[in-house]
Amino acid sequence: MYRPNGDQATSTKGKSFLLKYKFLRSFRLRIFLIIMLIGMCSLVIMRRGLLANERNAAIDQRSSSVMSMMRILSNRIGSSFFLEDISDGEISGDLELLAEVYNARFIVTDSELRIVFDTADIDTGKYLLAGNAMGALRGKSVSEFDKEEGVIEIAVPVYSSTDEDTGKSANAVILAEVSAKPVLNAVEQKSERSLLIELLAAVILLGFALIISNIVVRPFDRVTRAIRGVVSYEDSELVVSDYVETEEIVDAFNDLRTRMKAVDESRQEFVSNVSHELKTPMASIKVLADSINMMPDAPMEMYQDFMQDISAEIDRENAIISNLLSLVKMDKGAGALDVQRCDINLMLENLIKRLGPLAKKSEVDIILESMRNVTADVDELKLGSAITNLIENGIKYNKKPGWVKAHLDADHRFFTLTISDSGIGIPKEEQAHIFERFYRVDKSHSKEISGSGLGLSIARRTILLHRGSIKVDSEPGEGTTFTIRIPLSYIADNTSGSD
Ligand code: ADP
Repeated sequence: MYRPNGDQATSTKGKSFLLKYKFLRSFRLRIFLIIMLIGMCSLVIMRRGLLANERNAAIDQRSSSVMSMMRILSNRIGSSFFLEDISDGEISGDLELLAEVYNARFIVTDSELRIVFDTADIDTGKYLLAGNAMGALRGKSVSEFDKEEGVIEIAVPVYSSTDEDTGKSANAVILAEVSAKPVLNAVEQKSERSLLIELLAAVILLGFALIISNIVVRPFDRVTRAIRGVVSYEDSELVVSDYVETEEIVDAFNDLRTRMKAVDESRQEFVSNVSHELKTPMASIKVLADSINMMPDAPMEMYQDFMQDISAEIDRENAIISNLLSLVKMDKGAGALDVQRCDINLMLENLIKRLGPLAKKSEVDIILESMRNVTADVDELKLGSAITNLIENGIKYNKKPGWVKAHLDADHRFFTLTISDSGIGIPKEEQAHIFERFYRVDKSHSKEISGSGLGLSIARRTILLHRGSIKVDSEPGEGTTFTIRIPLSYIADNTSGSD
């Protein structure tokens, strides 16, 4: 996806910041922070909720105790002539007393909401337009808390003793504005005390988060220690089964170790095979040279004979070294191929011509059977030497007289080349191994027939690099058939290459 340069710069910056401060990437730190965050949020929410509950309960209690006083006064006003004559000293005195006790202001209005009595003595004679007063006039006792002013507003209807149950509107209303300050102050004090408790809880939470984050991460530390403790392939398998995740990491490590062990073993076997194969011609050369040295009077023909044998051993050594080099090169992958359009018929004709003298010497006929003209994308040099090796084997491991037949055919996607011979064949149990490096079927005939055991392994590797396949079919004593199948067009990805 395209990303503007600026973005890239920021993300690289972020990454390098995290790389610089390694501890920020710590799993332990992240768990610690998550516990702290969840814990602190819960503490704050809990404290706020508890305080709000407490405040509401205290306000409810204050408003209901004032309201019950107001109801008593409402009954007394309803059954007296207070509205007609507010000079009734007993009721007004009680209202003023209540106002003092509750730090409140009481107002009494008539049925038109005209203020007839005000303990603050400010608005007497004025008309009241408050919504809760109108509600009370319709017979509803109302209590509201005005958060901004810190005041509880209460309105209670007044009925004359005969009107109360008749559904008529009230004769008058008593209103109160009660200060909520004492309640709010008490809650505020509690809030300060609970803040201290919250701080204490935060300290406990910190310790808890430290312990938990250490416990959670401990199995991963165990995995690291266990992996660091491994010193050889022979060590017992690792087991850290605290979590499914640690078990999976350790299983993956054990799998990797098994694969590495197999690679290491095959490398060791390869090195020992290489040394052995390189030493064999050397040993022969040494024996030949020593023998001739010990015979100063040997005839010229003998010298020539020995020198020819030495030269053949040098050729063998050279062939092994150059085969090894090709294998190493091809191990680097498909990049080792130089793929070009190639006339496969022409390539086969040329290489059969080159093998003519060897075939003649071994009394083997080479037959080329082509069903059609085939051109394909191949590395002519490498594929040519792989096919040469197969035909050469057909000649080498044959009877006298014998034959080798190359049969070429193609469909719209692949060309198929079968190379069959009338030779000694390969036992069934050996067929799976002949493509292994340095593998030779019968060590006894291997002595008579020269070879290094690398040819088929190189041929198979070459064919796989062409995304093709090779298989063998053989009957001991009757002959062998190798079948190669290669795509006509070179496929760049590694999906169709198979054995
Ligand atoms: P080498 O250099 O020994 O020929 P290769 O890798 O080409 O090595 O072959 C491996 C072994 O497979 C040979 O040593 C031989 O025993 C057996 N082999 C290969 N091709 C044939 C064949 N056409 N007929 C019988 N045996 C064969």
